Amino acid sequence: MAKLQIRKIGDDVLRKVCRPVEEITPRILTLLDDMTETMRAADGVGLAAPQVGILRRIVVIEVEEGNVIELINPKIIATAGEQVGAEGCLSVPGRRGTVKRPKHVTVRATNRRGEVFEMSGSDLLARAFCHEIDHLDGKLYVDRATRMEED
Ligand code: ZN
Repeated sequence: MAKLQIRKIGDDVLRKVCRPVEEITPRILTLLDDMTETMRAADGVGLAAPQVGILRRIVVIEVEEGNVIELINPKIIATAGEQVGAEGCLSVPGRRGTVKRPKHVTVRATNRRGEVFEMSGSDLLARAFCHEIDHLDGKLYVDRATRMEED
């Protein structure tokens, strides 16, 4: 595994729309592993491929320590409720913002074995699903934040 460089706000790569993964190649599996290592080294709870300069629809999330969720081509298929809270991003160091997100989110994605699955999450996990999937469409939480502050 290798730790990758995290791109910071201002880098154009963070503003691009990512392409779907059509085939799960060894290169994609290595990328998943490297993204997890990079997320952990940076003490983050989520990382999207464009944050390491790769314009593919891939996300890793670790809200619960030791339980890494890998999402390939994720889509939000249902949301419910609302939560307003603080959010941060490894690509926006030293800052946090207040963002409104759904309280419950269900995603459909492909796993590393090529199987399509659905997963639901609430609270922080729901927030992470939204935040990371936004990255795949070139969106950053600062676009949605009602208030920003220094961390
Ligand atoms: Zn982020």
